[in-house]
Amino acid sequence: MIPKLLLATRNQGKVREYSLLLRDAPFALTFLTAEGIEEEVVESGETLESNAELKALRYASDDKYLVLADDSGLEVDALGGLPGPMSARFAGEGASDADRIGKLLRELEGLPREKRTARFRCVIAIARMNKVVQLCQGECRGVIGFAPRGQQGFGYDPVFYIPDLDKTMAELSMEEKNRLSHRGEAARRAVEVLREIRQEMAK
Ligand code: IMP
Repeated sequence: MIPKLLLATRNQGKVREYSLLLRDAPFALTFLTAEGIEEEVVESGETLESNAELKALRYASDDKYLVLADDSGLEVDALGGLPGPMSARFAGEGASDADRIGKLLRELEGLPREKRTARFRCVIAIARMNKVVQLCQGECRGVIGFAPRGQQGFGYDPVFYIPDLDKTMAELSMEEKNRLSHRGEAARRAVEVLREIRQEMAK
């Protein structure tokens, strides 16, 4: 039987991207809802690393599955790296993606393009039996645009402009985004680690 890998997120954007990114991992991907897991994790850490670990460990208390959790965020240079780990709560609890984008654009109002540099960063934690086995990191550099563009992706994608492509993240297909995104880079590293873990398990 193929062992299970639990993806510890309720973010549907992440679920869609990981379903593709982890296609070649030697585990059967499963989800919080499919496992009937309702408990939530309070992201009380101050870094993406600590939040990814917190989330992974929350669900890794037995040997039913390996757990993969991601914490990701947008780090804007002109805001000293914010919203960072606060990306999901940047405009308060219950706010929408549009609210967060609106707040970000207001905070950067008047700033010229060369001062709007930013990066997306993703940290994946893989945990098993109450232990974090590995952290995998990925990042993607870009520039915060002046207005939202594009309908794909999620979160801040419509204002994350990639100069080399002359497109925002939200104007890329999921395959294109996965090729260059922070999550794509971290997930490719995670797949390597998962292969090694599976080999260990088979011994
Ligand atoms: P968390 O990792 O669930 O705490 O949430 C991270 C937040 O960062 C998301 O809700 C988005 O607002 C933002 N974010 C993370 N990754 C992406 C991405 O790939 N595109 C756009 N926004 C993202």
